[in-house]
Amino acid sequence: MKDTVSLWFDPAKCLIAGEWIAPAQGGTLPLYDPSTGEQIGEIARGTAADIDAAVAAAQAARDGVWGRTPAAERGRILMRLGKLVEARVDELAAIEAQDVGKPLKQARADAVALARYMEFYGGAADKLHGETIPYLDGYTVYTLREPHGVTGHIVPWNYPMQIIGRSVGAALATGNACVLKPAEDACLTALAFAALAKEAGLPDGALNVVPGLGSEAGAALSAHPGIQHISFTGSVATGAAVQAAAAANVVPVTLELGGKSPQVVFGDADLDAALPFLVNAGIQNCGQTCSASSRILVERSRYDELVARMAERYAGLRVGRAVDDLDVGPLISAKQRGIVSGFLDQGSDLEVAGRPELRDLPEGGYYVAPTLFAGVKGDHALAQKEIFGPVQVVIPFDDEAEAVAIANGTDYGLVASIWTQNGARQMRLAKAIRAGQVFINNYGAGGGVELPFGGVGKSGHGREKGFEAMYGFTSLKTVAAFHG
Ligand code: NAD
Repeated sequence: MKDTVSLWFDPAKCLIAGEWIAPAQGGTLPLYDPSTGEQIGEIARGTAADIDAAVAAAQAARDGVWGRTPAAERGRILMRLGKLVEARVDELAAIEAQDVGKPLKQARADAVALARYMEFYGGAADKLHGETIPYLDGYTVYTLREPHGVTGHIVPWNYPMQIIGRSVGAALATGNACVLKPAEDACLTALAFAALAKEAGLPDGALNVVPGLGSEAGAALSAHPGIQHISFTGSVATGAAVQAAAAANVVPVTLELGGKSPQVVFGDADLDAALPFLVNAGIQNCGQTCSASSRILVERSRYDELVARMAERYAGLRVGRAVDDLDVGPLISAKQRGIVSGFLDQGSDLEVAGRPELRDLPEGGYYVAPTLFAGVKGDHALAQKEIFGPVQVVIPFDDEAEAVAIANGTDYGLVASIWTQNGARQMRLAKAIRAGQVFINNYGAGGGVELPFGGVGKSGHGREKGFEAMYGFTSLKTVAAFHG
């Protein structure tokens, strides 16, 4: 890598069985800085042969030292790893900022979250246990929570550190051995994390990392017969392909596929409190967030005021290079900029309520102007499709029933928030809205590693984060002993 960021691993290598090795076919992929569009290095292009080696290494770890490591010791290793991450927070943030294009402060928050995941899952490793079940006379029945074995983790480019933390953290805490396939657009912190895991004393083969293309390494991992569970975060189409590939081996899959998450603002809402959440949840990480709040539903009595105040914030948004650490950075790639620009074109029939001027940006960077559209109908394409860019739509509603109908009127159901002082309405809507997480008078609850996360509908299935993820990474065995 160029300039500012120094690495403690070789991005052109995979980590398999504790060894840094070049991909079997010797391939590399170009690495770009989204802030400038310049090529800054090369990463490994792992293929099916490397996935085979990584799965074999993981199985050997399960059959060997890692499989015999007691839960408390697994926890200590994860907690040590958390401390190593903590000690490198600024370096990890610098790597991620350059790789993903996210402003430094946001990249730093991801690194802090990664350390916190290790702390949480390290502490939880020896707290997961089975139960005894009262049964017939002469029997003792109990359950065991056992790791699946070898788990596959396919991770996207938008929040590599957070998504690795929540999925690999829970899988290792419960004793699985992992094969991690980071995204071709942003794989550096996955390798950085794996190097730190080795330093923390994680046995060889317990965590293997194979960077590469989705169509090569990703497809090979999801179809591999040696995998016993797959955790995937990314697009709906790829998630469906991963699930289909895993189905051939009857392997369980956790899918986290994004959303079109609404914030529902009623007439009695505290707009001063709501405003930062309304805007930040749309523009954070340049809108490339699965739980981005891309739809703002507002009761008509407050519509003009809300649009005016959000528009003012939009006009003041500062867009710049990740290292400038402003409000919004570039998108991840030229391809993503093409996708987002296509959506903006689809909004040509809409009122642009707020949009900042873009100034002094490097010519080759993948920038797009954050855009607030107002007066949008719930069935407009921009109110239905996941844009994955800094674009929000404001949709007016007249009563509670209409608000619920619009909130539930997409294919997705990941996150929602309700802004109202009316307690009964808070409770009714928390039940009525289809989503994996509902927030009342806040949005996102600061990320909360303890809080189970996942979707319904096309947002996916299964839960990550919190204790719930540990249930997902284990299989329950019932033991019934007859002793008379
Ligand atoms: P993607 O779903 O194609 O990629 C996500 C991960 O899956 C990457 O690691 C990729 O290498 C891998 N992958 C790709 N094809 C695969 C295959 N056939 N088998 C196994 N793994 C495969 O996402 P993308 O192309 O990077 O982004 C496209 C769109 O996906 C975005 O515009 C956005 O809407 C959505 N997305 C959502 C999330 C999220 O957090 N929910 C994250 C990234 C992208």
